[in-house]
Amino acid sequence: MHIIHEKEILENLLSAKRKAGKKIGLVPTMGALHTGHLSLVEKANTTADVVVISIFVNPTQFNNQNDLANYPRTLEKDSELLAHHYPDCIIFAPSEQTMYSDQLQANTYEFGPLANYMEGQFRQGHFDGVGTIVNKLLRLVKPDFAFFGEKDYQQLLIIKKLVEIEKLPVTIIPCSISREKNGLARSSRNELLTTEQRERASLIFQSLQDVKQEFGTKSVIELSGEIEKKFKNSAILKLEYFIIANAETLEPAKKIETGTKYRAFIAAYAGEVRLIDNMALN
Ligand code: AMP
Repeated sequence: MHIIHEKEILENLLSAKRKAGKKIGLVPTMGALHTGHLSLVEKANTTADVVVISIFVNPTQFNNQNDLANYPRTLEKDSELLAHHYPDCIIFAPSEQTMYSDQLQANTYEFGPLANYMEGQFRQGHFDGVGTIVNKLLRLVKPDFAFFGEKDYQQLLIIKKLVEIEKLPVTIIPCSISREKNGLARSSRNELLTTEQRERASLIFQSLQDVKQEFGTKSVIELSGEIEKKFKNSAILKLEYFIIANAETLEPAKKIETGTKYRAFIAAYAGEVRLIDNMALN
């Protein structure tokens, strides 16, 4: 396994692989790797010949400096985990200086309505930061395939749009959500939860499942009201948003139209820790 910190070394290694006819897969992450990340690496491993996992906590996508400061950084543990399961993979763990030089600044993107709601609304500038770092990584690694989790479904659609805007020759591969035993979507942030918070956070998944079950029998307003009530009754979780949205445009649904795909989205806080999840409804 290679652990590379410098761009030039990565470029030289990948250029040799490309010349040998190898297909390259990229899995961008912020580290603190868990089984959810590994499911992306597994998919990359079965799709591409060479798998690059980038580990970089990207400052420009954080709208909250506390969140950035508290974000778990565990490169040594991450490397051991990857070495154990994927001994042939390449880890790219650059510094801020390497990725941004002296300009720690995000580009401004026109993602349209995709970025207007949910994470785009509650985390100002977040998707410009995500777009900036993913654009840099895609231009550097030049992968044939890049893998993104549906856990961050809005991000996944934003990345597809980014690839269109930047005209990048890469295929974006979506990967399904990996969950803990109680249904909680796996996340690096789960490590910051107390045992009780982690148990009670299953309310997020249960709520999405309830909505899925009742979808089509109740109105969007009724379903939203029920979710808000569930969270009001929780002493542990504070709802930031619940939205049922068109699964392609991400515009919030007011009325359910036949022939349209919908998804439900939740963001909630357990103490200081912000958790997100989503589920296809039809
Ligand atoms: P992160 O390190 O949180 O930026 O995540 C890196 C990639 O892993 C993103 O594409 C995420 O959507 C994906 N990911 C994170 N958690 C999960 C999960 N529980 N299931 C599937 N994909 C995930």
